[in-house]
Amino acid sequence: MRCHTAEHLISQKLDNELRPSLDAKLQKHLQRCPFCTSLYQEYQLLQTGLQQLSNPDFPPQLHHLVMTALPKRNRSTELRKFRLSMAAASLCLVLSITAGTLVGYRGYGDYQNLTENESSTTLFGENSLMVVTYDE
Ligand SMILES: [Zn+2]
Repeated sequence: MRCHTAEHLISQKLDNELRPSLDAKLQKHLQRCPFCTSLYQEYQLLQTGLQQLSNPDFPPQLHHLVMTALPKRNRSTELRKFRLSMAAASLCLVLSITAGTLVGYRGYGDYQNLTENESSTTLFGENSLMVVTYDE
């Protein structure tokens, strides 16, 4: 086990989240690594010190002080940005519908030209299922 891995496992152990199999591997590493042993002891001291701290008493007006210190939201700017994005989205929608319509008309026109040309070269006229092209 490398020291980097051992450090993660030490942290998990102090949080009581380390599986027993990994705990055994960590103990093996701690027996032969003075660096990780001292790190483990430091973390234990730190955890004990933090647990001994009492909960701080916050002043009752703290919430009000924090809320007034926050920058105020500008509703009109947000509304303007929303309207602008809606206008851009509407423009994109109109352009895509227009482009789709144009492509559709153009494709339909090509189809009309194609069927008109084919009917003239069809051996049995417009209703024929056989399409034969021949040179005269
Ligand atoms: Zn180590």
